[in-house]
Amino acid sequence: KVRGLDELLATLIRDVPDFPQPGVVFKDITPLLADHEGFSAVIEALAAPGRDASGAAAVDKVVGMEARGFILAAPVALALGAGFVPVRKSGKLPGPTHAVSYALEYGEATLEVHQDAFEEGDRVLLVDDVLATGGTAQATQKVVEACGAEVIGLSVLMELGFLNGRDVLTGLPLHALTTL
Ligand code: AMP
Repeated sequence: KVRGLDELLATLIRDVPDFPQPGVVFKDITPLLADHEGFSAVIEALAAPGRDASGAAAVDKVVGMEARGFILAAPVALALGAGFVPVRKSGKLPGPTHAVSYALEYGEATLEVHQDAFEEGDRVLLVDDVLATGGTAQATQKVVEACGAEVIGLSVLMELGFLNGRDVLTGLPLHALTTL
């Protein structure tokens, strides 16, 4: 039996209460990744905002946010015939980088990208697993724009609507396969 996208997302993304800390319900995508039908379906769905009306690819690069974003963004890039660029936590990339720091619930985090990862004016799609407060996506947009590229949208598997992450993504079209 062929399963639809909604069924795949509902059955293959697992809730893990109190991980990594009490009060957080962690959305575990590993069962989805382990299911070929599920993984293929979500890659095509995440890639859709990177296509024009005729179905042709309309982006030059796909960016994944460390770490689960990498797993999703790389096959999205291949599906679109685009390049893949990793946005990493600080200190991981070997070359000159642009960096953006942003506030976490406790403390601060820094994201980096290689300065030469994009051509001026590249059209870029961001991909991650979960949109929570939107801090990661907002910082990623800033760091990519610092390279002279244009971010055309953000694709995520799941939006945690109660955290209102959408509200901080001013002017960035959000494509969430499911919203809680
Ligand atoms: P935020 O910056 O608050 O939007 O958080 C988004 C980042 O944290 C993404 O890279 C997610 O992978 C991760 N994340 C946040 N909340 C969760 C959650 N409940 N389950 C799984 N991942 C999460």
